[in-house]
Amino acid sequence: MDTRVSDLAALRGFIDRHPRLFVLTGAGVSTDSGIPDYRDTEGEWKRKPPMTLQTFMGGDLARARYWARSMVGWRRFGHVQPNASHRALARLESRGRVALLVTQNVDGLHEAAGSREVVDLHGRLDQVRCMACDWRGGRHAWQEALQDGNPDWTLLDATDAPDGDADLDGEDFTRFRVPPCPNCGGIVKPDVVFFGETVPRARVDRANAGLMGADAVLVAGSSLMVYSGYRFVTAAARNGMPIAAINLGRTRADSMLTLKVELPCAVALDAL
Ligand SMILES: [Zn+2]
Repeated sequence: MDTRVSDLAALRGFIDRHPRLFVLTGAGVSTDSGIPDYRDTEGEWKRKPPMTLQTFMGGDLARARYWARSMVGWRRFGHVQPNASHRALARLESRGRVALLVTQNVDGLHEAAGSREVVDLHGRLDQVRCMACDWRGGRHAWQEALQDGNPDWTLLDATDAPDGDADLDGEDFTRFRVPPCPNCGGIVKPDVVFFGETVPRARVDRANAGLMGADAVLVAGSSLMVYSGYRFVTAAARNGMPIAAINLGRTRADSMLTLKVELPCAVALDAL
């Protein structure tokens, strides 16, 4: 039996033995939807680390640069579709096998595929909110506001980057006009947890409750380099819960894994 076939059989056995899974997903489940990921198989940054809250809040130019790139990237990111991995996990839930699905992704594709019990640990890129008055809006309407204020930028083309970002180097971002909050004139931010920002407590609590109600952990497409996801795996290990991971390359939790399947998520999950 070749390794891939025996890995898949082992994964199936793991799922059969543990009827209530806590599923934790990362960028690797969305790459098949055409969304690039941040890290290579060693868990190192492939590109410049993503935006931090400090940088975003720190100046008009940083926000102009962020929203200009986001506006161009959204033309594609705003229309991405779930892939076989998302659909397989939604099927697993519909069979009553998923206690909770926690995702580090901000693309909303698990919900789009039909998963219901989902914690979007890092928020959703299809929503924006005001940092001053907590006004919230949809990203599609915000896109129109960005485009109305910057018609000449809508003609630009760029390479897609992770999280709906796009590479737009050499542009003069001082020319880009970021609309203020329509309610109070404050700073509008995508409703996602930026790098270095804290995950809201309620989400962590809900995820922990889901973990306590599960009998095993399945990690899919994450190197677990980010603490916000890694902590659930360490908590599971402390409680003696079995942990399986599907990931191409190293994860930060390799030493804690009961089973490691080094296959693309879509291949492994679809086989379930
Ligand atoms: Zn506001």
